[in-house]
Amino acid sequence: MKPNLLNCTYPELERFCSDLGEAPFRARQLWQWLWQKRERDFGRMTNISKGLRGRLTETAAVLWPEVLQVQASRDGTTKFLLALEDGQRIESVLIPEKDHFTVCLSTQVGCALGCTFCATGQMGLVRNLSMAEILGQILVAQEHVSGLETDVSLRNLVFMGMGEPLLNWENLRRALGAVHDPLGLDFSKRRITVSTVGVPGMLTELGAAGLASLAVSLHAPTQELRARIMPRAARFPLDDLIADLAAYPLQPRQKITIEYVLLGEVNDDLGHARDLVRLLNKVKAKVNLIPFHPSPELPYVAPDSSKVLAFEALLKSKGLPATLRKSKGQDISAACGQLRAEVAANE
Ligand code: SAH
Ligand code: SF4
Repeated sequence: MKPNLLNCTYPELERFCSDLGEAPFRARQLWQWLWQKRERDFGRMTNISKGLRGRLTETAAVLWPEVLQVQASRDGTTKFLLALEDGQRIESVLIPEKDHFTVCLSTQVGCALGCTFCATGQMGLVRNLSMAEILGQILVAQEHVSGLETDVSLRNLVFMGMGEPLLNWENLRRALGAVHDPLGLDFSKRRITVSTVGVPGMLTELGAAGLASLAVSLHAPTQELRARIMPRAARFPLDDLIADLAAYPLQPRQKITIEYVLLGEVNDDLGHARDLVRLLNKVKAKVNLIPFHPSPELPYVAPDSSKVLAFEALLKSKGLPATLRKSKGQDISAACGQLRAEVAANE
């Protein structure tokens, strides 16, 4: 199979060009066609010589995920069902905000961690996504936005779709390189958030790379409760996770987002809120509360809204910044934790 050039980092693309006997600046032109002009047809890369265009067509490919389905929610949230080269399927979600769009990206097909409240987790892990597959989701979303009659642009990326990003760190790191490159997708680092349950050793890698903001899925203030609702993730002991967060490198005024899914009658008491405040006292944190999104196969109920408000109020009263995540796209199962591209590859 011809190599997909969307899997090349910039230095790899330079090497690819020099292997074809071309000057390095050709890589720059090619890179801009791939990422800025979203061109998939070498024949249309007009500032590249005809000879090279021909050789590129013979030796390489530019492959995006195939869009199988586009589902729009009443609130404008749009879910894409995408097919990959081997027939595997993933989902990504485009979310309209006041003055920009955010896209929620997947990093794996399924997820190995099997958190008990998460639809993706019930699929198990099928495989990691490649650099091209991670970034292909952005290209598809940008193409969709460019077809809308709007001046609003796609500005924010959140790695909160299917999969655990830090268990596919190598490909994520490669992808983030092209995301930031001013000649590539050109997203600001402040507009990118990686959400993780925390993986031993990997928070240090993410912090040192400095390529994105950090969101951590905590969901419980004690090791015992965390182990009950997210058993595999909790093999990384809570104390060690908190120590990593306290040591995490941050810019002045920057904070770590702590995600906390409120599961009705499980982790939504004021006692849990107080424990959470205590647990986080050495971490520069802000808490994002996410009321559980029910799915038929998941064994929880949504929390009472009075409890959600009381939980939020307690955190704030103790000086811990807290926000409530507005739920978008629930009617098309596009909300956090609801992604589940379950149709098998060759049904
Ligand atoms: N694996 C990473 C990123 C993907 S999950 C992580 O867990 O952080 C993105 C967010 O959705 C996480 O905070 C996750 O806990 C949350 N989530 C999962 N299932 C959910 C559900 N049913 N309702 C609400 N949020 C959910
Ligand atoms: Fe995986 Fe995150 Fe879902 Fe847990 S919540 S199963 S880590 S995707």
